[in-house]
Amino acid sequence: MKIRINEHFGDIKESYLFSDIAKRVNAYSEANPGKKIIRLGIGDVTLPLTPAVIAAMHRAVDEMASADTFRGYAPEYGYDFLREAIADYYARLGVNLRAGEIFVSDGAKSDIGNFVDILGNNDILIPDPVYPVYVDSNLMSGRRITYLEANAGNGFLPMPDGLPEKPYVIYLCSPNNPTGAVYSAAQLGEWVAFALQTGSLILFDSAYESYISGDYPHSVYAVEGARSCVVEFCSLSKTAGFTGTRCGWTVLPEELEAGGVKLGRLWARRQATKFNGVPYVVQRAAEAAVSAQGHAEAMEHVRYYMENARILADFLREKGIWFTGGENSPYLWLRCPGKMGSWEFFDYLLQNVQIVGTPGEGFGKCGEGYFRLTAFGRREATEEAVARLRNLL
Ligand code: PLP
Repeated sequence: MKIRINEHFGDIKESYLFSDIAKRVNAYSEANPGKKIIRLGIGDVTLPLTPAVIAAMHRAVDEMASADTFRGYAPEYGYDFLREAIADYYARLGVNLRAGEIFVSDGAKSDIGNFVDILGNNDILIPDPVYPVYVDSNLMSGRRITYLEANAGNGFLPMPDGLPEKPYVIYLCSPNNPTGAVYSAAQLGEWVAFALQTGSLILFDSAYESYISGDYPHSVYAVEGARSCVVEFCSLSKTAGFTGTRCGWTVLPEELEAGGVKLGRLWARRQATKFNGVPYVVQRAAEAAVSAQGHAEAMEHVRYYMENARILADFLREKGIWFTGGENSPYLWLRCPGKMGSWEFFDYLLQNVQIVGTPGEGFGKCGEGYFRLTAFGRREATEEAVARLRNLL
């Protein structure tokens, strides 16, 4: 063909990190069919949907079976019942949002990846290491990225000090994937102050907010001034086990405006053109998940995963392996023992104890020499992983 393709795809790695991992793991299992692999790599949950969610889905399925209650295309921004239920959820966190500021979607990955559609060619600031979607979606559209180094020195929480004072689009993720680091209200306050002063926009990813148990903001809008400079992305994937059910949302407060244009209107326009809404059954499930009852049930699962995190953390302490995370986050971020490289340690664990983790390097240059373990496994698998690791490390 003689058409032109998007040449910027040449700027991203050939395959997504988790596809690379899956390829190596599949090759290993094919060569060693009898070996039982424990997966503490990709951040997928293992517990089922909770009773409140399942009951809501069943009811919604029954509605779809009758001509009187059947629903076709869902509104592009979400049914009002769900937007209002999400606003109530925020109110319980002490944050006031209007339902119309909440845009429901099939998950945070799509929204974060699609958000570049409504932005022009800005300077982009992205922490390194980080959830790969921020980097790849910007590279795919030919944007210039400046990386903010996250390291043991700054607690994996880069701050704006010393940055040239100009407008940026800034990606922040707290609790962080992959490092598990969490910004305090004071630290987020500094970022908000920087954004307001420079005319920057912060894109804040709160996908892991329900893992926070300490005194940290669950939503960036708990910080004064954030309504004028931050878009927040959230998801039910990790909170309520929706990784396969698919529902999340993006918050664009009324105050967000650039060049006299409301960002909420642009996003609404973008979604109306390119997105046709989340299935009715899923939105009813999401409504149940953010209700007081559904959230209480989901938090039992969060506590289960955090007990896994404690088991992994105790083991790392026992072995004197440096790590961070695992307290307000389901991720533990450790320094590879014996000065091994990330992929070297990945292979070492896979070959010797059949445990799959995620090489830190896959999240950016600063992740070299680090490794991510997740607490999302089943308890028995997590305990077995620790027993195997105890014999190896
Ligand atoms: N943001 C972060 C930081 C994540 O780790 C993930 C998923 O792993 C997502 C967003 C995407 O979530 P969703 O399943 O809603 O697309």
